[in-house]
Amino acid sequence: MMQWFSVAELDLDPKFDADYKEQLRLPRMYCASCQQCSPPIVAARVPEPVVSEVRELLRPFPTFAPDDMLLQLWQALDDKDQERADRIEAEIQRLFQVSPEEFFSIEHKLRQIYHMPPSRIIEPGSFVGPLVVSKRFKPRWDVYMNWPSLYFSRRAGDEMLEKGLTGIELFPVYTRDGKPSEVYEAVVTGYCGLPKLLSPGGDFFQCQECKRWYLRGDHPLKIGLDPSRWDGSDFFHVESLQGVYVSERAHELLNSPFFSTAVWASLRPMEGEWVHPYFDLSGNLFS
Ligand SMILES: [Zn+2]
Repeated sequence: MMQWFSVAELDLDPKFDADYKEQLRLPRMYCASCQQCSPPIVAARVPEPVVSEVRELLRPFPTFAPDDMLLQLWQALDDKDQERADRIEAEIQRLFQVSPEEFFSIEHKLRQIYHMPPSRIIEPGSFVGPLVVSKRFKPRWDVYMNWPSLYFSRRAGDEMLEKGLTGIELFPVYTRDGKPSEVYEAVVTGYCGLPKLLSPGGDFFQCQECKRWYLRGDHPLKIGLDPSRWDGSDFFHVESLQGVYVSERAHELLNSPFFSTAVWASLRPMEGEWVHPYFDLSGNLFS
């Protein structure tokens, strides 16, 4: 039985202050049929350099809430009028949301602009473009998970590619003067399809509008990796789960003396995960 591990946050590095070079954000996807917003996915951003077509494509979508709406929200909170605050908050959220159809059309155009293969997941709601850090920043880690991003030091990233680890693309994080820094941002391209049901009962079903998968059942169900649906990559996403997972080979390398103690991510062995019928596969409560 193949072993797999989840990569999760461990420690926070307050010195690592990564910022977006440009404030360009993809809209979030809200499905009226599921009444759900798509959950974030780890290591699935678009760190490619921003080009004018992308600026044009994302121009209609706001990055931040307008000042007058924030002012209204603060006033409502100040007045202790929770009902009004909730209403304004919902209005603000709607500004950032589009329907699945609209999102898929934006995604399609973005893929065309960057010639992106289907193995690249495009996360709704994420910022587009490279990250920047301060010129003097030197990472104290080799691997660092800061949800929903995964980073490697330059030496660690180069070592991984050298050793032939698959399912990962590394993008430079720049310094403010435009040179590559000592850090890579990772995008995971490996893929494993739907998990396997390990306990009796329940079935998977897919929303035809937003294409999101759900697990239906009347009692908690245990799910596990389905190796027959795994593309063999060392870093991979699992269909309908938000996290990043690694193979035994990647786990071994990340625990080798080269990486020593500089892995600022928890590598938890995955066996079977329990999914409650009120939650989605990633543990998000249905609204
Ligand atoms: Zn849906």
